[in-house]
Amino acid sequence: MNERLSAADLDFDRRHIWHPYESMRSPTPVYPVVSARGVRLTLTDGRELIDGMSSWWSVIHGYNHPALNRAAREQISRMPHVMFGGLTHAPAIRLAQRLVELTPGDLDRVFFSDSGSVAVEVAIKMALQYWRARGVEGRTRLLTIRGGYYGDTFQAMSVCDPVTGMHHLFAGAVSEQLFADRPRVRFGESWDPSDLASLEDLAARHGDEIAAVILEPIVQGAGGMRFYHPEYLKGARELCDRHGFLLIADEIATGFGRSGELFGCDHAGVVPDIMCVGKALTGGYLSLAATLARPHVAGTISAAPGAAGVLMHGPTFMANPLACAVAVASVDLLMESPWRKRVARVERELRRGLAPCRDLAQVADVRVLGAIGVVEMRKPVDIARIQRRLVERGVWARPFGKLIYLMPAYVMSVRDLRTLCAAVCETVAQEPA
Ligand SMILES: *Cc1c(COP(=O)(O)O)cnc(C)c1O
Repeated sequence: MNERLSAADLDFDRRHIWHPYESMRSPTPVYPVVSARGVRLTLTDGRELIDGMSSWWSVIHGYNHPALNRAAREQISRMPHVMFGGLTHAPAIRLAQRLVELTPGDLDRVFFSDSGSVAVEVAIKMALQYWRARGVEGRTRLLTIRGGYYGDTFQAMSVCDPVTGMHHLFAGAVSEQLFADRPRVRFGESWDPSDLASLEDLAARHGDEIAAVILEPIVQGAGGMRFYHPEYLKGARELCDRHGFLLIADEIATGFGRSGELFGCDHAGVVPDIMCVGKALTGGYLSLAATLARPHVAGTISAAPGAAGVLMHGPTFMANPLACAVAVASVDLLMESPWRKRVARVERELRRGLAPCRDLAQVADVRVLGAIGVVEMRKPVDIARIQRRLVERGVWARPFGKLIYLMPAYVMSVRDLRTLCAAVCETVAQEPA
């Protein structure tokens, strides 16, 4: 659809359409976009913006990529969709083969779903069904760390940071999970084993209630954009082994190279029992996610008698062939590309380009890992104002809370990366101190 939008259309949008995490009474202004190619968005008025967001971590190869377009066209002309109950198809099998091969260790049972939040729901169901199958009744809670983000459905929300996740709005309706303190030791700092004390303490006090530990490996994403030490992740794995908890790794944001390793778990050589992927899985083309489990998890669930041995989930669009076909093409494109070098180049430019922000009074912290750059302000930012100033400078980013962050496509040129970082630094410098 390539039609002009009138002022009345935009007014309709403002009155009738919810945007993510927005009020309908006083929504932040939205920018009408008409096309996207490479790392650029084109607005309806013809302005081009360098995209610093990759549409929320997902468009790792850039927009409108010929290889992904080809995969989509071929699949759409053959079979855009077919139900997965009782049927199977090459795109699902080819994608599962790649996921089994690329994910750590023996994660080799694949459940496809349509979004990250649902992949997390499925992971949690797996963990609960696992304990039921073993005849253990009381292990129904999850242990996690503050500052997390796992999605917007109810169980996923229950493990999100209780403050930024606004748990008070849903008090009584959201499961009460166990929250350890946020890791203090950052990625790259020297390790201090006492960082695990809070997690250890909760595990010791609530061991019999806990089904699984769920965490985002190395990078806490939308809950605060923080990078923690790989030894913390190793420690969490060891703690799970000691107590018999399952370990669920949510790699929806970190998966497919974003943090500099293919998966966040690879920084620590850790194999979780259950792992969720999404976001970049289709290169940002379609909504698709997967939950992988190790054989002992899947085997235990399956061994339960009768209906209890069935994993109780099955979305209508499970393993959508179009999404799977594009995902296969995206994963192949990534693995055939010098992605490690590209992510390292993005990291170097983000470090260099955002460093000047460090000296500004408005800025509390600047941190970079892989293709993720974060400027943390001292005060919450006015999103509309910052966005307007970035757009005036030809750049797209979507700040939240105190954070202005960038996660560009891995293919972004050094020149565009420099423009992007300069625009952020200039905009930040204009903010009130
Ligand atoms: C985005 C995200 C989710 C939720 O994925 P949706 O596709 O938005 O449902 C879950 N976990 C993490 C770590 C994410 O970044």
